[in-house]
Amino acid sequence: MQTIATSIYNKNEEEEKKIILREYRAILRALKIRIKKGDKALLRRAFELAADAHKDMRRKSGEPYILHPLAVARIVVEEIGLGVTSVICALLHDVVEDTELTLEDMEREFGANFAKIIDGLTKISTVVDLKANTTEQAENFRKILLTLADDPRVILIKLADRLHNMRTLASMTHEKQLKIASETTYIYAPLAHRLGLYEIKSELEDLALKYTQPEVFNEIANGLKETKRERTRYINEFIKPVKEELAKNNFDFDFDIFGRPKAIHSIYHKMRTKGVAFEEVYDLFAIRIIIDCPPDQEKELCWKVYSIITNIYRPSTERLRDWISVPKGNGYEALHTTVMGPEGRWVEVQIRTLRMNEIAEKGLAAHWKYKEGASSAHESKLDSWLIHLREILNNPETDTLDFLQDFKLDLFTEEIYIYTPKGDMRVLPKGATTLDFAFDIHSELGARCIGAKVNHKLVPLSYQLKSGDQVEVITSSKQKPSEDWLAFVTTAKAKGRIKYYLKEEKRRIAEDGKGTLTRKLEHLGVPLSAGNLNELCVHFKKQSPLDLFYGIAVGNIDIKDLKDFTIHGDKLESPSKELKLDTKNLVSQEEAAKNKPVKGGELIIFGESSDKILYKLAQCCQPIPGDDVFGFITSGEGLKIHRTDCPNAPQLLANYGHRVVKTKWAKNKEVSFLSGVRITGLDDVGVIQKITNVISGELKMNMRSISIDTKDGIFEGTIMVYVHDREELENFSSRIGSLPGINKVERLEMSE
Ligand code: MN
Repeated sequence: MQTIATSIYNKNEEEEKKIILREYRAILRALKIRIKKGDKALLRRAFELAADAHKDMRRKSGEPYILHPLAVARIVVEEIGLGVTSVICALLHDVVEDTELTLEDMEREFGANFAKIIDGLTKISTVVDLKANTTEQAENFRKILLTLADDPRVILIKLADRLHNMRTLASMTHEKQLKIASETTYIYAPLAHRLGLYEIKSELEDLALKYTQPEVFNEIANGLKETKRERTRYINEFIKPVKEELAKNNFDFDFDIFGRPKAIHSIYHKMRTKGVAFEEVYDLFAIRIIIDCPPDQEKELCWKVYSIITNIYRPSTERLRDWISVPKGNGYEALHTTVMGPEGRWVEVQIRTLRMNEIAEKGLAAHWKYKEGASSAHESKLDSWLIHLREILNNPETDTLDFLQDFKLDLFTEEIYIYTPKGDMRVLPKGATTLDFAFDIHSELGARCIGAKVNHKLVPLSYQLKSGDQVEVITSSKQKPSEDWLAFVTTAKAKGRIKYYLKEEKRRIAEDGKGTLTRKLEHLGVPLSAGNLNELCVHFKKQSPLDLFYGIAVGNIDIKDLKDFTIHGDKLESPSKELKLDTKNLVSQEEAAKNKPVKGGELIIFGESSDKILYKLAQCCQPIPGDDVFGFITSGEGLKIHRTDCPNAPQLLANYGHRVVKTKWAKNKEVSFLSGVRITGLDDVGVIQKITNVISGELKMNMRSISIDTKDGIFEGTIMVYVHDREELENFSSRIGSLPGINKVERLEMSE
């Protein structure tokens, strides 16, 4: 057997070598003019070293491993626009992690500059570690962000790495696909967005959707294919008069005008948030006009094109975005407007120059290319964002998980532009308050802020700012941060600083409590040992000694209660120990009864084993047999089964990968599940009767409840039925949906 395998391998070896070399040459071609003297030898050395180090390794798909670093390097040049240094690091990105070679080898071969980037890549390459616990994983995200602030090239190469892994995800196990895809949605797509890599962001999101929700993905992809002809016809009709007018106006610069459909993920997002069917959003696309013109005429010409288009099609007064005069924080520049096209359809039009287009596609990297010459104010904005990021991450008090949650909010939100009294501009997320602004300027300014003057009018700390506001912060030396401030700040920086101040304050107060407790214990003749502290924390239901000390200091805990404790040697013993255990048991039994686990463990099979494990079906997505599901070990309520398209799934899978258990449904038709659908339609007398006829008569299903509300001729209702599996539910939905007057039937997401 072995000889046969070897001979097949040998036969392919020459073939493989050819493919590998072809890939390498493609990179050199893409780099072209960026290769300076001496670079070529260095590139060759990196390629040969990587090829040799990985020579015995293969990817899951069976192809030689070196094709992966080669593909990553190619993405780095072609799709992100980075240069020779990044290509070399991309070629070497998995060497230290996966082979015998060390970081020291890299430094000796290529120098400290390269070694530093490779080190960054190695450090963040182990995010998907099945064994890592939550804190470790959060710590990993923090590392990603830290290296980002350190040298953005690290994260750009990492994004290329992730993109290639996502493109080749098909050969992974389903479990791994889910984990990698979720992590991509959770952290990498938002990062790509924040760095202005819109193309990559879209592709990452589409690929993630393809693996987490294949049915949805295929439905939309097929829908797009089927409607392509109709879209093209409409786009051509829209474009024709625009082209003619541009020509008539002696517009003598090269331009390109075309329409493109929205990404699958963003169509899905629209369908989901607006609650509409594909048919209602499929025609969503944007018309893009890209002008090739000298830098000093950009603004003028973009507006000229705008005026030509709006002479033909009426613009919506609410939808004009001028990101040329004030670019987005990630550097994006363009003019967006929405106009009424033929057949009375709203069409989004984006006007950009070639330079702006490159920034839109390659983000941060394109900025470096245009760094010389341009006065670019936005560049400093991105820089200041990176500085601010570093500031927060370097603060040892930052609670990483907490921070990530806040930070993620920052990544996606829209921006507003606020001015200081001197006219300097700051970029803040939409919804930011005067207090966010104060913290953005300086932590001390935030901590002492008592209010502000916005456009010369006095406003409170919680005042929500609007783009264009000019803000003068008012401070007092007596002011200090308080807990309720957290309710009206939105930026990660303000939240992080306030939490830090509160913790410091608590620590200061707790010192007093610690003194009091120490004296009391001394009096009783027992030491302030870890064991005794633990006993006290448990007794007084405090999470940590800090909370205990603080409780004593502020009088929440009566130190006199200590007299009820018994003393064994130098150990304190809580008086209520046994009693407490009893109540705990009582509570858990009650809980169990309320939230009772599904009978018949044989419904669900975990991993490869056939062990029977007690589990509950998650309330948030109410899975039924046939749904794609995973098991999740909660911290207090045992194992819960979620649908992979549960709204909570990306966050759970990405952050708590180690708690996920592979799960599938066993074939079992004995047990039925309560499931529900929401229906809408036109009011018609007798609709309830028709529905109930179908349910109990035709389908012979067991219905639990039906409720219908009618308003202005439209009715909305909920039907709860018992089903055995997804097929039955789908069958039921389509039967109900086919009744006259019923407009839409959708599965209930949340328990209501
Ligand atoms: Mn890799």
